[in-house]
Amino acid sequence: MQNQLFIDGRWVAPADGAVLPVIDPATEEVFHHIAAAGPADADAAVKAARDAFDNGPWPRLSGKERATYLRAMAKGIHDRLAELAHLETRDNGKPLPESEWDLADAAGCFDFYADLAEELDGEVEDLKLADARFVSKAVREPLGVTVAIVPWNYPLLMASWKVAPALAAGCTMILKPSETTSLTALELGVIAESAGLPKGVLNILSGKGSVVGQALVEHRQVDKIAFTGSGPVGSRIMAEGAKDIKRISLELGGKSPFVVFADSDIDKAVEWIMFGIFWNQGQVCSATSRVLVEAPLYPKLLDRLVEEAKKIRMGNGLEEGTLLGPLVNEKQYEDVLRHIDRAVEQGATVACGGKFEGFDKGFWVAPTILTDMALDSDAWVEEIFGPVVCIRPFETEEEAIRLANDSRFGLAAAVMSANDARCERVAAAFRAGIVWINCSQPTFTEAPWGGYKQSGIGRELGRWGLDNYLETKQITRLVSDEPWGWYLK
Ligand code: NAD
Repeated sequence: MQNQLFIDGRWVAPADGAVLPVIDPATEEVFHHIAAAGPADADAAVKAARDAFDNGPWPRLSGKERATYLRAMAKGIHDRLAELAHLETRDNGKPLPESEWDLADAAGCFDFYADLAEELDGEVEDLKLADARFVSKAVREPLGVTVAIVPWNYPLLMASWKVAPALAAGCTMILKPSETTSLTALELGVIAESAGLPKGVLNILSGKGSVVGQALVEHRQVDKIAFTGSGPVGSRIMAEGAKDIKRISLELGGKSPFVVFADSDIDKAVEWIMFGIFWNQGQVCSATSRVLVEAPLYPKLLDRLVEEAKKIRMGNGLEEGTLLGPLVNEKQYEDVLRHIDRAVEQGATVACGGKFEGFDKGFWVAPTILTDMALDSDAWVEEIFGPVVCIRPFETEEEAIRLANDSRFGLAAAVMSANDARCERVAAAFRAGIVWINCSQPTFTEAPWGGYKQSGIGRELGRWGLDNYLETKQITRLVSDEPWGWYLK
């Protein structure tokens, strides 16, 4: 386990020697300490990334050459998958099979962007101009020095969604993982070293968002910030970045609806509603946390969900058979319990779940189902980011669409029905960047990811993810010998 910072291809202690504890959320044991970077470390990392971009080989390599490094990093993750998954589960609490799944996806992300890096070679768009005296072409080039700030819910996967396309594009990067879960992100530095990545191309700074995150956001030598996290921090980053017109992409929160029509197969509805909100302890930005059920199915489906939610096996993520681990830390645990208490104060009914006291230590919240909440209640409106779902009935398709879209967020939405035409109609009506039909949450590296409204700006993954790290340049040539005639008549 690393306890230093990765700057300019070397492992170094933070300038002021500060550290942060690493706490296992299932046992509350402090099992490691990580370095807590400060402004001086941020400056050193930005200088290294700047130098690697301005003077180093990285942006000048062909896409094919960069792809070999990305594939080596994918292999590096694959080769250590079991060990990294174990670290991820101790750090974050999620069940081990989910960590293994995340890490396989992270490796796949590096392989995917290796392919796209190769496709960049020779990519030129000849433009048709109305004026035959000129020819013009458009080319795409790496954007520059980039910063990735990522959250704790999918530690290495969220980092990979940014590091892989940035490196594929030819950018250099400073990665700032969440202070709650930095272990696997730091191991990515070891993997980059083994892959022979040139120095300064990837720098990794563990530490507090309010300290090193803020210093990176304010740094004048940074060209772009790619952020995944909460809305308030995203808003602050956008305001700060506006001062020197930094490129900003934001992946923020959500309160995503799942509309279930009465003709749905009840077993499939149970499976996808449960996966949609209880997977990863509900700490998923796209979690379908508002479920709207067509009235004739509502009582039966609610009974089944309550029955099944009570059967979910909670435990240490390292134990076989665990389906729901602890929440990531004490703050998150207290926040989620506060949300549940407030829901009750505002008139909601807890059909099942709430605080779980089955273990002496750890941050446990049982799968929780809320009903009877008002449409303007916090439980229905605000992101809870835990295993808490709000369920309510609806009467008509129009009402379901209206309720689904009645949110300041627009990250994801899902619909289930046996009627394909209805699914397509509702999918088209959703104001959200990600729409699932007859399922909820499956995520693919090839498909664009990001939100409408206050859920963010820009898209990650797929070719859209690469676009985040490229600038477009036009090169226009005069090919006519005719006098221009503005000065020399
Ligand atoms: P957060 O906003 O508190 O922290 C995210 C990151 O920002 C962390 O690395 C943190 O250290 C850093 N940070 C905090 N303050 C900062 C500052 N002033 N300047 C710079 N960096 C700062 O969010 P979190 O609690 O880690 O994650 C949960 C949130 O992330 C939820 O709202 C969730 O919806 C969202 N999220 C969104 C997506 C998505 O793809 N849209 C994915 C995962 C999580």
